[in-house]
Amino acid sequence: MTIDVVQTKELHKVDPVFGQLSFDNHEQIVFCNDKDTGLKAIIGIHNTVLGPALGGTRMWNYNSEWDAVNDVMRLSRGMTFKSAITGLNLGGGKAVIIGDAKTQKTPELMLKFGEFVHSLSGRYITAEDVGMTTADMDLVRTVTPYVTGISEDKGGAGNPSPITAYGVFMGMKAAAKFKFGTDVLEGKVVYVEGIGNVGEALVEHLTNEGAKVVISDINQNRLEEVSKRFSADIYRGNDLHSEQMDIYAPCALGATVNDISISKLRAQVIAGAANNQLENELRHGQMLQEKGIAYAPDFLINAGGIINVYAELENYGRQEIIRKTENIYNTTLEIFNKADISDLTTHQSALAIAQSRIEARKSENK
Ligand code: NAD
Repeated sequence: MTIDVVQTKELHKVDPVFGQLSFDNHEQIVFCNDKDTGLKAIIGIHNTVLGPALGGTRMWNYNSEWDAVNDVMRLSRGMTFKSAITGLNLGGGKAVIIGDAKTQKTPELMLKFGEFVHSLSGRYITAEDVGMTTADMDLVRTVTPYVTGISEDKGGAGNPSPITAYGVFMGMKAAAKFKFGTDVLEGKVVYVEGIGNVGEALVEHLTNEGAKVVISDINQNRLEEVSKRFSADIYRGNDLHSEQMDIYAPCALGATVNDISISKLRAQVIAGAANNQLENELRHGQMLQEKGIAYAPDFLINAGGIINVYAELENYGRQEIIRKTENIYNTTLEIFNKADISDLTTHQSALAIAQSRIEARKSENK
């Protein structure tokens, strides 16, 4: 798993408590502290209109507490819109644990964290994220039922990455349909940046369809492995964004779509798994639109993972997981068409649909 921590300069200017909470109207932020285990965690509950706030727990050695607060809020807000646009009855939440997952994660710390999650009585449901494993979630499960992403032999839905990749593939096809008039990816040149859990599974779908896949990663061993497995070309240059390609698939870090990369990008479609691909949602969404690059909103097309864990709560099976994930194709196409006949970017258009679903539920609940 990868991480991107956005600078917190802006947040330093606002009041530390409600100034923070008001960041896109978070409902609740919970600070969890336990001296004995060393636990320092923050749970962000952005919105619970559609259902309990579900989102993974990230353990990361943040440079500062501000970075941790900022990260949890950006992520929990993203979860609200991801679940809303996917049609799930879930709100948005996320948790971060401050510390190095390799050296500071202990069973005691995870159990204590689970107790804090339990104390919220289901308003927040956790899952795994960066620095967490299925085994950690299994442990948390011993102290609270408000956890998903547990192992298959304990009744969980297992590794979400292949499903995430399938959803990204569906979203990419829809974007291709809009931009090229066909969703057949055979012969298209696709650069996959980051071939971790999701990227590799995406490469498999693409090569099966006959796309010309070029892979890039900072991990050389991974590159050799994946290239051998799928006969994908390895990118050996140092300016990927300026290469001639049809589709750019960011599957590593966030914020790779920015002033610099957009000025060079020759791709006609952007569709990938990474969260928060646009460094600045509004500005970079607009720049892409002006350049005629079709951008498939990340929070929409990478929703396969949440569809997978939602199955644990709703007790639906594999078939329904696949059906819901394939529906990402329809929603993505709908968003492209909507944005095309309005002044909105695809990102704004996707947000608007998600927000209107939340508003409609609010009215029903009145
Ligand atoms: P991962 O850690 O398994 O893979 C990330 C890969 O990116 C690694 O191989 C890493 O070496 C590579 N990488 C890091 N920096 C890079 C750089 N500068 N250039 C090229 N490669 C680089 O992560 P993952 O689970 O495959 O997730 C990929 C992205 O998708 C992340 O942004 C994650 O937040 C997002 N995402 C994942 C899921 C999921 O189900 N796993 C769901 C939704 C969103």
